[in-house]
Amino acid sequence: MDHRTPAGETTAAEAADVWRRAREHLDGLPGGRGLNIAHEAVDRHVAAGRGARVALRCVAADRTATSVTYAELADRSNRFAGVLRSLGVGRGDRVASLLGRGPELYTAVLGTLKNASVFCPLFPAFGPAPVEERLRLGDVRVLVTSGDLYRRKVAGRRDALPGLEHVLLVGPGADPDSGTVSFDDLTAAASGEFTIPPTDPGEPALLHFTSGTTGTPKGAVHAHEAVVAHHATAALALDLRPGDVFWCTADPGWVTGMSYGIIAPLTHGLTAVVDSGEYEARRWYGILAQERVNVWYTAPTAIRMLMRVSPRGRPPELPRSFDLSALRFVASVGEPLNPEAVRWGQEVLGLPIHDNWWQTETGAIMIANTAATEIRPGSMGRPLPGVRAGVLERGPDGRADVTDGRVHVLEQAGAEGELALRPGWPSMFRGYLGAEARYRACFADGWYLTGDVVRRDADGYYWFVGRADDVIKSAGHLIGPFEVESTLMEHTAVAEAGVIGRPDPVAGEIVKAFVSLKPGYRPGPQVARDITAFARRRLGPAIAPREIAFEQNLPKTRSGKVMRRLLRARELGLPEGDLSTLESPS
Ligand code: AMP
Repeated sequence: MDHRTPAGETTAAEAADVWRRAREHLDGLPGGRGLNIAHEAVDRHVAAGRGARVALRCVAADRTATSVTYAELADRSNRFAGVLRSLGVGRGDRVASLLGRGPELYTAVLGTLKNASVFCPLFPAFGPAPVEERLRLGDVRVLVTSGDLYRRKVAGRRDALPGLEHVLLVGPGADPDSGTVSFDDLTAAASGEFTIPPTDPGEPALLHFTSGTTGTPKGAVHAHEAVVAHHATAALALDLRPGDVFWCTADPGWVTGMSYGIIAPLTHGLTAVVDSGEYEARRWYGILAQERVNVWYTAPTAIRMLMRVSPRGRPPELPRSFDLSALRFVASVGEPLNPEAVRWGQEVLGLPIHDNWWQTETGAIMIANTAATEIRPGSMGRPLPGVRAGVLERGPDGRADVTDGRVHVLEQAGAEGELALRPGWPSMFRGYLGAEARYRACFADGWYLTGDVVRRDADGYYWFVGRADDVIKSAGHLIGPFEVESTLMEHTAVAEAGVIGRPDPVAGEIVKAFVSLKPGYRPGPQVARDITAFARRRLGPAIAPREIAFEQNLPKTRSGKVMRRLLRARELGLPEGDLSTLESPS
């Protein structure tokens, strides 16, 4: 029997047909030897005589830019693939990066994929603790990093990572005596010729760590076949067209920066802008202008920061002082985009902002406001062709209610529930590495459960309501409260911790920690500063708490778990809800 989605649009057979046709836009490895992302991204363009096209425009700190052509990228990635092979690193082995945004990151990703190894990008702003944890959970054999990042974030923990056999340093600082070798020397000495081995479309290609409410980070595995969705959705949701210059501002340490910062623009044979710098309004407008960017994919936090600099209703002096005439399409992802931001785009940039929705596990955009459809400001848009979405009734724990293995699909317009997707799209994650039970728990009654709460209107537009669990989105980064709590509890003064997201007008949410202190310690600004500094050193500034509050009696369930939901409700002055599981309701 075929299931219709609640909106009644797409059947399983129709969806399969959409993806089959999308696959036809890709080449596959020569001789029918399978499907490899790196071949689609680079080698096929070179083989078709397009090697002289500019693949990357790498913008340095001083905003000077250098070009890397497709032929150069093919050569460099071949060399890196050869390096891996010569090190005995092979099919399925994990290669991680801890690198700033620059051409070497592209070389490392594409060379790894050519070698049929699995690439795991790590966010360079992570502190040593999350880096170590991900290297260990990912069972990473090779790390490509810089001397500075290695010294600050890995060297001190190398002994705890026996599986990490090779550390390759981009730039100076390699020292075989301390277990590092030079990435540049090895790639310079390697051959520029490399034949990609046969690659099954279902073979693992990418490993992206994401966070849940509890437990360790989850390593979502994506297969080479995901490239079908990266390619198709970039055309549909981001309006990518031949000849475009495209800028995705996300760091490839997160899934957006990989799927749309690296893979999608290259499979389309376009020019991708790669900015090594951080957000600064003048810098960003400068890059949009100097690189004549046509399509820009960014995050709501960044848009809100730009809105602060040039609010609506005042002459937009800063943006108007740059030539943004090449810009044709602007999109954003990762957190709710306020309707005000969509209107700001229209007024200040002359273009509305197209919000879209997806997550690490989906691998590619699933729901979008597209160029071809009316934008509903504040909505994430509608499911793309080939995507079958539904809204499921929720149970007392806030997640989809699964009774006897069955869920209840809410058909009526305006109903609120957990967003779920019918499996079958090519970029769906194939598992959480080494965590089969956690993977299985994401599915019920033929649906993949996203963990997001949404509303669908009568026209099939989806509106984000919130998360069904406790994970935090701060400046577009998904943060697991458990990871932060565990680190806080390593501080000598901290007895227990509960971490929540507190709403913030710019970052969406900021990380706030409630801690109880061990006997002998007294709450006060000095301890708070000390704990904050400790957390920043260990976790890195992107995920460390921005605020610390002392709470000697943290609300806990009878089984002893800190009730973050209650901390959050109290912080925001919201109803406290069901307190029946509270340890001592008084
Ligand atoms: P990540 O896996 O880090 O990409 O984070 C995915 C999560 O970000 C989703 O499950 C949502 O909670 C949130 N998210 C992504 N896109 C949007 C959007 N357009 N509006 C609201 N939340 C979003």
